[in-house]
Amino acid sequence: MKNIFQKIIDGEVPCDKVFENERIIAFHDIHPQAPVHILIVPKKAIRDIMHAQQEDSELLAEVVFVAQELAKKFQIEKGFRLLTNNGPDAGQTIFHLHFHLVGGRTLGREA
Ligand code: 5GP
Repeated sequence: MKNIFQKIIDGEVPCDKVFENERIIAFHDIHPQAPVHILIVPKKAIRDIMHAQQEDSELLAEVVFVAQELAKKFQIEKGFRLLTNNGPDAGQTIFHLHFHLVGGRTLGREA
């Protein structure tokens, strides 16, 4: 069964999209933890960081530059987090690799 991000990628479920190209889609998180909380999602079905392959290097690098552009676009370039939860113990709930771009407020030192 498709997970929710796969359905968003396939256009079957709507999202508040802020970026898309052939390889990556980005949209606002439905339950934002900060004024800016965007999910950057490689379209390739990779479960999590531990399932990424060497051949995904370019794709993963591109995520960084998409994050950079979105940080500028949403004016959080002075302070933001780009993070991914790997596995249930880290709080991953959707098993399709994605990166949280979080900012727009002072971020504490807590995990
Ligand atoms: P994870 O916990 O797997 O790292 O992150 C999953 C994120 O996806 C959560 O922050 C959650 O709020 C978000 N999310 C879950 N379902 C949807 C949805 O249908 N649409 C959007 N835009 N975000 C979702």
